[in-house]
Amino acid sequence: MESVRTDFYLAGDWAPAEGRQSLEVHNPSTEQVIGTVPAGTADDVDRAVAAARAAFEGWAATDPVDRAAHLDRLHAELTARGDEIARTVASELGTPLKVATRVQVGLPLTVLRSYVDLAARPAAPQTVGNSLVVHEPVGVIGAITPWNYPLHQIVAKLAPALAAGCTLVLKPSELTPLTAYLLFDAIHAAGLPPGVVNLVTGTGPVVGEALAGHADVDLVSFTGSTATGRRIAHLAADRIARVALELGGKSANVILDDADLTAAIKVGVGNAMLNSGQTCTAWTRMLVHRDRYDEALDLAAAAANGYRLGDPFDPATRLGPLVSAAQRDRVREHITRALADGGRLVAGGPDAPVPQRGWFVPPTIIADVDPDSALAQEEVFGPVLAVIPVDDDDHAVRVANNSRYGLAGAVWSTDEERAVQVARRLRTGAVDINGAPFNPLAPFGGYKQSGLGRELGTHGLAEFCEVKAIQR
Ligand code: NAD
Repeated sequence: MESVRTDFYLAGDWAPAEGRQSLEVHNPSTEQVIGTVPAGTADDVDRAVAAARAAFEGWAATDPVDRAAHLDRLHAELTARGDEIARTVASELGTPLKVATRVQVGLPLTVLRSYVDLAARPAAPQTVGNSLVVHEPVGVIGAITPWNYPLHQIVAKLAPALAAGCTLVLKPSELTPLTAYLLFDAIHAAGLPPGVVNLVTGTGPVVGEALAGHADVDLVSFTGSTATGRRIAHLAADRIARVALELGGKSANVILDDADLTAAIKVGVGNAMLNSGQTCTAWTRMLVHRDRYDEALDLAAAAANGYRLGDPFDPATRLGPLVSAAQRDRVREHITRALADGGRLVAGGPDAPVPQRGWFVPPTIIADVDPDSALAQEEVFGPVLAVIPVDDDDHAVRVANNSRYGLAGAVWSTDEERAVQVARRLRTGAVDINGAPFNPLAPFGGYKQSGLGRELGTHGLAEFCEVKAIQR
């Protein structure tokens, strides 16, 4: 059944997008059109920003406990729509339903819950000498989000922004806008005050640029590719608007010689393939001590060959398609180039079978990858893992840091102290040791070209605040 959405969400209600063109949304498993949404214009962005500006003063002055109560109601409304959202993500993105339920819905609900708690107890004013230091909401937020975790990426901005007392205009990815509409159904049902959150769908070059360049947007919070992040930083620079950028990655999974190899490879391959490799934090470079290299490759190939590709709604499916035909073609080109550059195929590759219909790429493992080659340097955003042998800890750190990115990473060693030492030397925003669980309260963000600023927890809240010193 097609989902036809014809409205934006402005000033607390659905607003017909009359006369606007519509954008088609596809199911990447079937290649069929499953819905349409309106393509907004700069005028629509103007209206949305005006609504957010009009709501700002009242929302900023709302008691934090009341703001927390609003977020709590939103949490309840989203929870009630959890199944529908998971099915929508499986349809418009292709994430297997089981994973969509656990990660694509479960994670944002956890993050939203954390901000219900944080909103209710804002940081107390600090006394510094004769100064009172207070945190105040930064203002109107322009939020621009990608398609790979379509609900989580929005909630990771919206929840702290609202908790801090900011108002917001969202432009979600044009590839996965149906999930955003379900969020706004929940927002409407939760009865958030008019103008506190607004939705304009459309393309990046039109709606995204208008929002990032809008004179009345105080902070542009963006998640997406490094190229687009750079463009947004330029647009914001003209008016010295704040920017928060969550960008690409090429994270290293460092497996030391004393690692539990079975666990390291199982978790490492799983991490690289999650969401068909369309995960910014994916450990897409596996750095293995030379003494364990052949053993690691055997285990990695077996893990990759064990994935079942197919219909995201089939409970046996572990890997869905890529989001679009263009993405599938890009990933295939990366594989071909990596093999031409001297990489050795150990699983998947151009000739491995995939379902006939849908934009699938098989889980692919390429060994002996030159650390300076394109596969080791460029974000592929597909189920492709580069394996690189290393001689010792120093060499591993050098190879891991040989990247313009610095978003995530991992270290495996049975000696936790040694693992922490290596983790401390990695120029990256997060490192997981021995498969430690994701912490939704920990700061999340990148070094180098992986971004600016941090999301989640108290650090995420601070992104949406200005700091004022009052001298007495
Ligand atoms: P993208 O940069 O193509 O698009 C992201 C968003 O920006 C979309 O809403 C798009 O419409 C919009 N956009 C495109 N051009 C624009 C422009 N000129 N001005 C304003 N907005 C514009 O990225 P994508 O393909 O949707 O997502 C994949 C990328 O996102 C990958 O590079 C991935 O690593 C990154 N990502 C990063 C994180 C993180 O937290 N660091 C999380 C998820 C994804």
